[in-house]
Amino acid sequence: MMASRAACAARAVDGGRCGRARRRGAVRAEARGAARVSARASSGTAEARSDAETSARGDALAQTASVGADVKAFTVPATLVAGAPARVFVNVDASGALREASGVTALGGCNGWRCGAFERSMTRVSGTPWMYADIDVDENAYEMTYVFKNDGTSAYENNDSRDFTAAVEHGPTPEEFAEILKLLAIDERARAEANAEVDREMSMTSSDVGAGVTLEKYGRTIVKTPNGEPLSSGSKTQVFWNKAQNPIGGADATSLIMHVGYNEWIRGVEEKFTMRRASGEAQDENNDWWVCDIPVSPTASVLNFVISDADEQSWDNNDKENFRVAVKNVADEDVWAVIRELRFEEKRAAALRAIKEEKERLARRAKEAAKAKQIAIEVGLKQQAFIIYTEPKVPQAGQPLKVFYNKNNTHLNWSQDIHMTGGFNRWTHAGAGEPLKMTPPKEGEEFYTAVVPSVPNDSWMVDFVFSSGIGEGAQYDNRGGRDYHLPVSGGNAKKPPLHVVHIAVEMAPIAKVGGLADVVTAISRAIQDNGHQVEIILPKYQFFNNSVLLGGREYETHFDWGGTTIRVEKCIVEGLQCFFVEPQNNMFSTDSVYGRNDDGERFNFFCNAALEFLNRTARQPDILHCHDWSSAEVARAYWQHYHHNGMHKPKVAFTIHNMNYGQAKLSEAVHHSQMTTTVSRSYAGEVSGSSVVNGNLQKFYGVRNGIDPDIWDPEIDNFLPMKYNAETCVQGKAAARAELRSRLGMSGWDDKPIVGVVSRLTAQKGVHLIKHAAHHTLARGGQFVLLGSAPDPKIQGEFNGLANSLSGDDSGFFFAFDEPLSHLMYAGCDIILVPSMFEPCGLTQMISMRYGAVPVVRATGGLRDTVFDVDNEKERAAWEIAGSSDWKTDGDVTNGFSFEGTDEGSLDYALDRCLDAFYNDREWFRSLQKRDMLQDWSWNKPALEYEELYFKCIGQ
Ligand code: ADP
Repeated sequence: MMASRAACAARAVDGGRCGRARRRGAVRAEARGAARVSARASSGTAEARSDAETSARGDALAQTASVGADVKAFTVPATLVAGAPARVFVNVDASGALREASGVTALGGCNGWRCGAFERSMTRVSGTPWMYADIDVDENAYEMTYVFKNDGTSAYENNDSRDFTAAVEHGPTPEEFAEILKLLAIDERARAEANAEVDREMSMTSSDVGAGVTLEKYGRTIVKTPNGEPLSSGSKTQVFWNKAQNPIGGADATSLIMHVGYNEWIRGVEEKFTMRRASGEAQDENNDWWVCDIPVSPTASVLNFVISDADEQSWDNNDKENFRVAVKNVADEDVWAVIRELRFEEKRAAALRAIKEEKERLARRAKEAAKAKQIAIEVGLKQQAFIIYTEPKVPQAGQPLKVFYNKNNTHLNWSQDIHMTGGFNRWTHAGAGEPLKMTPPKEGEEFYTAVVPSVPNDSWMVDFVFSSGIGEGAQYDNRGGRDYHLPVSGGNAKKPPLHVVHIAVEMAPIAKVGGLADVVTAISRAIQDNGHQVEIILPKYQFFNNSVLLGGREYETHFDWGGTTIRVEKCIVEGLQCFFVEPQNNMFSTDSVYGRNDDGERFNFFCNAALEFLNRTARQPDILHCHDWSSAEVARAYWQHYHHNGMHKPKVAFTIHNMNYGQAKLSEAVHHSQMTTTVSRSYAGEVSGSSVVNGNLQKFYGVRNGIDPDIWDPEIDNFLPMKYNAETCVQGKAAARAELRSRLGMSGWDDKPIVGVVSRLTAQKGVHLIKHAAHHTLARGGQFVLLGSAPDPKIQGEFNGLANSLSGDDSGFFFAFDEPLSHLMYAGCDIILVPSMFEPCGLTQMISMRYGAVPVVRATGGLRDTVFDVDNEKERAAWEIAGSSDWKTDGDVTNGFSFEGTDEGSLDYALDRCLDAFYNDREWFRSLQKRDMLQDWSWNKPALEYEELYFKCIGQ
C-alpha cells in the first residue's frame, strides 16, 4: 500500500495526473453501499459525527489564524470521523507548487486510495494565504490521504512526495475494511452472474432449441401436453410421458420420478416430481401414459426433463438428448425485475454460505490433521512399548517420568544389571543426568524401572540409552545408533528447526513423471509443517514457462560457472520455497524431464550447479537431500568439491525411489551419503542383498512414503463432479463413476463393479497381470478401466490390441499421462488394481484408499507395507497401523486384498474375493471403502521417522 501511494505522489510531483485518485472514485459509492454489512457503528459514532459536523462546518475558518507558520495543510477536525463532514486547508504561500495558483483543487482518498476518493475546488479564506474545501469522509475510512493541485500548471503539493495524511476514527479497522471489500466483490460477482443468467433466459425461445409440444419417437408419441398447447410460464400444468415398451422401473412400476430443469438446464435439475399412471389415457403396446403436475417456472421458455425409476437406479435421458417441452413465456418486465433481484440474493447467499463452509472445513481439517499427527506419535510409542514405555505415556514437561525397560526384547537380555542414561532435547540440554541403575522387575514381571525426577520445562524430547554397566566393558542398547527418543508434551521451548534442501529433478505438480515427484513435494511439506525450513532446487525446464502455477517466478541471482551463466529463479510452489537453476547453455530447454540421450550428463551438471548456487548464497543447510540416480551426483560432488570449500555444515541424505535405474550412480551416492533411505521397509529388506547397498546396511533405512492428504482430498478435489468425504462416499463416487463412464465412452449397464488401473505401463507394473485382469473382470461381469502410458512401443501396441479386442460397453482405456483424469479414476473406481512385480513404495494404492477405491495388490515392497488383506492379515494390520497387538479389542483395520505370486491364478485369488465381496455383501464393501478413506496414509508417521534420521545424521 505504501509503495503505491508513494508512486502516486511521485507522479504527481512530476506534474502528471494522479490517476489513482480519479480511478478510485468509483469505489466510493460501492463502499458506502457496503456500510450495511459493517456492524461497527455505535451510539458514540453518532455523537462523534455530529461533533465533527459542528467543528468542520462551524468556525473552522477561524482556525487558520492560530496555525503555526510551518504548517502547510491540516484538516478540521484534526482526527477525522468516518461518515462525517470535514474541511481540508492548505497554505498556498507555504507551497512552491501552489503559490502563484489561480485555482487549487484538493484531491484525496481513503485507505490507500481504495475508497472515498474526492476532488474539490478550493476556496480562499479571505485575507489569508489559506484555501479550504469541504469534503465528506467515507464511512469505511480508517485513514485519509490528500494532496493539492495547481489548476493552472498541474503541479502538485504532495508534502514532499509523502502526501498529507489524517487519521480517521469510528470507521472499520484495516482488517474489517478488507472484509468489506471481499463482501463487495461477492456482491459484484453475484450481480454479474444473476444478470448474465437472466439475460440468457430472457433471450431464449423454445423454437431456438427445438422444443415442441410433443415428441415422436419409434413411431410413437412419447411426450405430450394437456391440449397439445405449449405450457405457459408461471402456471400449474400437467406433462405426460409414455413408458410403453420402456423397461424403466419394471412392468409393475407404481411410480417414476421426473427430474425437471428449465431453459436448457441453465440451473441444473431444479425439482423432482413423482409421476403416476395417467387415468383416462389409451393403454396398449404403444401407449402407457404417465403424468405429473408441474408448477412451471415463471422464467421458462423450455421445460427439460429426464425420467428415473423410484430408486434413481435406472434412467431414461432420451439417448442423452433429454426431453424438452415448449413453454410460452408470459413474464413481463416486472416479473423479470423481481427474478433478477431474487437470483442476485440467491447467488450472494450461496457465495457467503460457501465461504462459511470453507472456513468450517478448514477448521475441521486442521483439527483432524492435528489429531492424526498425535495418533502417529502415539502409534510410534505403542510400537516400541514392548521395549520401552513411560508413565505418563507421553512425557510431560515439569512432571516426573517413570521409565519401563524390557531388556528381554533387546540384546542386553543376558545382563543382570541395567543402567539408564537419560538426556533431553536430543542430548543438547544441560540437564542430562548421570547413568542410573534401574530397579529390576519383581518376580514374574519383565520391565526394569527408573524415575526421571522432573522433565525440564524447556524440553521437547527425552532421550535414553540403556547399558549393562557403566564405563569400559559395558554394552549398550542405543537402538541401532538412533537412541530412544520420546517427544515431550507441554514444554515451553521449541525444537530448533532443521534446514533441509532437496535437490531433485521432479516435483509435483510442476514436473511430474512418477511417484518421485509426489514424494519430493509431500515429504517437504510434511517436514516444513513440523517446523523445519525446507527449500527445493530443480532444473528450470523450458516447459515451466507455460506453467500457470509458476506465473509468480522471480529472479533470484545469476553467476558464471561451468562455462556458462547460471540463472536462478525462485517461486513458491505448494507452499514450498523452490529455486530453479537454468544454465544459459540451453541444457534444460526441453519439453520433458527425461528423454534425451544425455540425461545423465545434464543432471550431473544441474547437481553441481545447484551446489554452486548454495555455496554462492552462503547457505549452510543441515541436510542436503538428493533422490535417485538423477540427483545422486550431489552426494559425491558435495563431499569432493564443496565440503572443504565453503559449505562445511551439511550432511547428505539420499533416497532411492527405485533400485532399478542408474545403479552405478546409486552406489556412488550410497557411499557418500550419511544416511540412505528407500521408500518402504519391505522394499529395503527385499533389496538389502543388492551390491548398491549391501556394504552400507548400517546406514540404510526403509521409510514408507505417504501421500499429501490436502493434495489428494476428494472433499476439495476440483477434478470431480461432486466433492465427497467418507460420509458422502456413495453419492460422490456414483457421480464420479457416471462422469468417468461418459469420459471413457462406456455405455454398458451401470451397476457393475469398476476395476481400475492407473499406472505407467512397464514390466515392473505387472503388465501381463493387468492384461489378464481386464479379461477376468469382464468375465466376472465387472467393468475395467485403465489410465496408463507405455514408454515402450511394444507394450503400448499390446495394450492397443487389448483395448480394441475389449472395446465396447464395459471397458475404457485412456493412454496418456493425464493428472485430472487420474483423480476421476480413483474416485470413480470401486477397486484399484496394483499387481506390480516389484514396488518400492507405490502411491496409487494409498491414493485409492483416500478416494474410497479398495486396493487389490501384489504383496511386494511398499504395497505389502500399506495394504493388509481383509481375510489374512488382521494381526499384522493392527500392529502396523494402530500399534495394537489385539485386533479383536482394538478393531479390524485391514484395508484391501493381496496376493503373493506372479501368475494369473494368484491375481484371481485376490481379485475374485474382492469382486465377491462387492456382489455378495455390498454393505460390507461400502464399509470397507469408508474405513479406507479414514485411514491415515499421510506423511505424519514417516515424517517423524525422517526427522529422527535427519537428527541422527547431524549427530544429535
Ligand atoms: P511410479 O513412481 O513407479 O510410477 P507410484 O505409484 O509411486 O509409481 O506413483 C505413480 C504416480 O503417478 C501416482 O501419483 C499416479 O496417480 C500417477 N500416475 C501414473 N500413471 C498415470 C497416468 N497415466 N496419468 C496420470 N497420473 C498417473
